[in-house]
Amino acid sequence: MKRRLFSSLLVIILLAFTFPQVARAEGADTPVLIKDAAGLIAIAEHPEGDYILGANIDLSGVNWMPFAFSGTLDGAGFTVYNLSITQTCEETRITYDGRHGGYHTIFAALFSTVSGSVKNLNLLNETIDLTTDQPCFIAGIAGYLLGGELINCSVSGRMKIVSTAPQCGAGGIAGFGHGRIEGCTVDAEITICAVNPDRYCEEYLGGILSNGYADVIDCLVKLAGYTSVRGYVHNGGLVGLSDVNPENKRYFGHVRGCSVDAKISFFEDVADRRAYCSAYIGEIQNDDLVVSANETVRFVSLESKDFTRMLLPDMDQNPVYNAVVTPPKCTAFGYTTYTNPDTGYSYTDDYTAPAHTPGEWQVVTPASYTGEGTQRQYCAECGVLLAEETLPKLIPSVSCELSESKVEMTYQDSLQLIATVLPIDATNGNVTWMSSDESVATVSNDGLVTALGKGKTAIYCKTDDGFASAACEVEVRFTFGQWLTRYILFGWIWSAGING
Ligand SMILES: [Zn+2]
Repeated sequence: MKRRLFSSLLVIILLAFTFPQVARAEGADTPVLIKDAAGLIAIAEHPEGDYILGANIDLSGVNWMPFAFSGTLDGAGFTVYNLSITQTCEETRITYDGRHGGYHTIFAALFSTVSGSVKNLNLLNETIDLTTDQPCFIAGIAGYLLGGELINCSVSGRMKIVSTAPQCGAGGIAGFGHGRIEGCTVDAEITICAVNPDRYCEEYLGGILSNGYADVIDCLVKLAGYTSVRGYVHNGGLVGLSDVNPENKRYFGHVRGCSVDAKISFFEDVADRRAYCSAYIGEIQNDDLVVSANETVRFVSLESKDFTRMLLPDMDQNPVYNAVVTPPKCTAFGYTTYTNPDTGYSYTDDYTAPAHTPGEWQVVTPASYTGEGTQRQYCAECGVLLAEETLPKLIPSVSCELSESKVEMTYQDSLQLIATVLPIDATNGNVTWMSSDESVATVSNDGLVTALGKGKTAIYCKTDDGFASAACEVEVRFTFGQWLTRYILFGWIWSAGING
């Protein structure tokens, strides 16, 4: 059966994926709606603006350039996934070590600095992989939290910085700075390697914040940390070094209501050892900080005495990983798990969007010759309606013509009749053949007429939808030779028996 299926839903979906979705929503004061990677990248052109996400956004294949953000971004609970960062912003800001020495510092994070507000944003499978000779902080959302707020956000992924500079840090949410971090969740693997044996390096690792005096409230941390240091190391499940800037002599801050599940492996390769590693805050230099009501689910401080090689998540020199794909589900992202069979180390990567499982189309109202029909497709897993299509009205046959309307045939001959049904897109233009007298001539299913006896018959052709038909008159005669054979050799009785 021929069907033309119209799916307005499909068209809308195709359009949505074809054009970048950067559109100012209704009204002048409402935020810019962002639904794709191009829209997210375009924030850099107006970083002081107000934005809201309207979809999950896949950043696979995007070489993300961090930039300073001073506006508001509401993730609206949506997820930005596969964000990969291998470069820093170009601008530098001064950051301070524990003795308040200042460094011109670069940053790698979703945003190099945040002086505005980011909330309700999920970053799934964020990876940062950076090698630098400049002082640098890397982090999930804000390289430098410049008085801004990061509320109800989540970061999962892997971050690694390899440095030959005198200062570096890595934080699950923020690198350096101050502001407010509340209701955020981190599930991350964070690695810091200071690799210049001739230079002391100040190093900070924090599940939420690596160095600074931001308030950290009601956050959840699941952390696997690795720090290989030449200098001073400050490891904290929540904050690496809690310290106020020289310009802000006092700050009455809070680190409270947080939960930590962390294992931090570290060494510090100097004679006068000053390695800090604590469940909440590596080292506190802010006397006015109140640390309260935090919970340790698990905390492992694993100090290594083997300084011969860097501490890494996978210590295999040349790891070869097995890949196992977990397909997406209705509301769950898919991903690939990479496992080193020699060490047992594994990580996940290459996330894919949640997806329903389309079931068979179900006809709700069949189309007829007088009206359209509808059919629907539901998810085979959760039953949600995925698509609805209109089934077009059926097209009736209007005419049926045969290649011959009247023929004479010789006994035992055959003739191919051809039926032409119009219109050609008739829903059911198939035809059925019939002979009115099969002792004279028969007709096959595809119109081949075979003369079987002397006489007249009619070959009928009718469309299967019943709307059109045609007929061909057939007269069968004997040749003189056939007549002579029958009449002389077999006599009139036989001849009479075949309509003679
Ligand atoms: Zn589903």
